[in-house]
Amino acid sequence: MTAPRIVVVGAGPAGIMAAREAKRRGAAVTLIDEALRPGGQIYRQGDAALASSGVGLPEELAHKRTVLEAFAEVAEAAEAVDYHSGATAYAVFPGPQLHVALADSSRVFEADALILATGVGERAVPFPGWTLPGVLYAGGVQAIMKAHGVRAGDRVAVVGAGPLIIAVAAQLAEAGAEIACVTLLTPLRVMARRPLGLWAGRGVVREGMAYLRQLRRAGAPVLEGWVPVHAEGAPAVESLCVARHDGAGRPLMGSERRFDVDMVAMNFGFTANSELARMAGAEVRFDSVRGGWVPVRNEFGATAVPGVFVAGDGAALRGAFVAAAEGRIVGAAAVLTAGGKGTAELHQELAAEFTERRSHQAFQDALRPTLDLPSGVWSWATDDTVVCRCEGITQGRLRQAVDEGHVTVNGIKRNTRAGMGWCGGRTCLASVAALAAQGQAGPPAETPPMRPRPLARPVPAGILARREP
Ligand SMILES: Cc1cc2nc3c(=O)[nH]c(=O)nc-3n(C[C@H](O)[C@H](O)[C@H](O)COP(=O)(O)OP(=O)(O)OC[C@H]3O[C@@H](n4cnc5c(N)ncnc54)[C@H](O)[C@@H]3O)c2cc1C
Repeated sequence: MTAPRIVVVGAGPAGIMAAREAKRRGAAVTLIDEALRPGGQIYRQGDAALASSGVGLPEELAHKRTVLEAFAEVAEAAEAVDYHSGATAYAVFPGPQLHVALADSSRVFEADALILATGVGERAVPFPGWTLPGVLYAGGVQAIMKAHGVRAGDRVAVVGAGPLIIAVAAQLAEAGAEIACVTLLTPLRVMARRPLGLWAGRGVVREGMAYLRQLRRAGAPVLEGWVPVHAEGAPAVESLCVARHDGAGRPLMGSERRFDVDMVAMNFGFTANSELARMAGAEVRFDSVRGGWVPVRNEFGATAVPGVFVAGDGAALRGAFVAAAEGRIVGAAAVLTAGGKGTAELHQELAAEFTERRSHQAFQDALRPTLDLPSGVWSWATDDTVVCRCEGITQGRLRQAVDEGHVTVNGIKRNTRAGMGWCGGRTCLASVAALAAQGQAGPPAETPPMRPRPLARPVPAGILARREP
């Protein structure tokens, strides 16, 4: 009997653990990742010669070692996983058939089961000045530290929602930056409303407390219940004005404070990289905190599309521990399903992974209010604020489209070109959806997301033309 062909997209904790589990169960496994080295977002690896790979606290670094050892196990085995780094998956067609851009050519991978473990991207909330050079995503700033050992600014403001803000600010302070201010939309103590959830995630909570202590030692002001108002400077950012908000995210005039900075790092949560799953035909549901439109799956990660599975944050933001545990469950289920077998036995075989996923879910529920965006945040952009950066579409132009009756995400896209640029709408989708929903946290349930079309990611035409047989 021939081994089932399992193709995994994403070499983060979910994809690596899925690949290893599938390999252990005798599958022929291909692992595709657009990064040059395995690890995904949180366990991103820098150049081996750089000390930057050590960015993070001991518990995070220990889990990173576990995940990278799992990668080494399958990459160095006699019949190793067929691993392609620097490779971008840009389309999925029925089969499932995955289209991938490699370094000099493109190739189509036929799979018995396709596992999409593509993680999340960062969510922006546009405010005046957010497109100035020097205003960066907080996770991007962290990625530059991890991958290149470079601190992107000297005097910085870190603004946004959720615990990543604290981690990145502390890592910047550790790297020698002066932290002018840290602002959080919602105080992290709201998590205490769910003590059982906090207990379930006590390892992560300990990390968070350690980061807060680092910030306190660095003398960084942490302003809770504050939001950015505008960034200014020419040609790059020179100052950031922040203000208290009214509980619904709207800045309270008169409370403003201005900080001189050479970098602003911002993050307002995450958006699931679900475009390949959507292209495959997977049904999606809207979850404003867990990544926006996320694929609907069963407990084994299977979508309703035969042979298409989703694992990790790409299925709903839940963190690296859940991603790793779920990777194993989905890797195993994909092999069993491809072999025409049932998956019920996995409850017993992988009981520890199911328990890990469940208990971290409780922690993620405690975290939820810190990432919930009240409707007022979508009022920060003024009419001349650019919202779709790729196509240069302003908030005023988007509002005009809504006033003219284009009230769905796809209607606004067709009318204004918002979301038709290089990023395929990953940056502006949340803003456009909020506008379509008239400032509500999410669009009406019946509103579909922007239609995904090949190419899901920008790929040079020459590479597409050089299709391997
Ligand atoms: C910028 C950023 C910083 C973060 N920092 C932290 C942190 O400090 N602490 C924390 O607890 N959590 C952090 N997170 C969240 C954390 O990364 C995730 O919870 C965890 O990594 C999820 O694992 P995953 O395997 O599901 O996805 P990821 O680790 O994100 O891995 C997904 C992989 O898929 C690849 N990929 C995506 N699309 C394609 C494609 N089309 N073709 C080929 N490859 C593709 C990516 O290159 C990536 O390697 C961060 C997330 C982001 C986006």
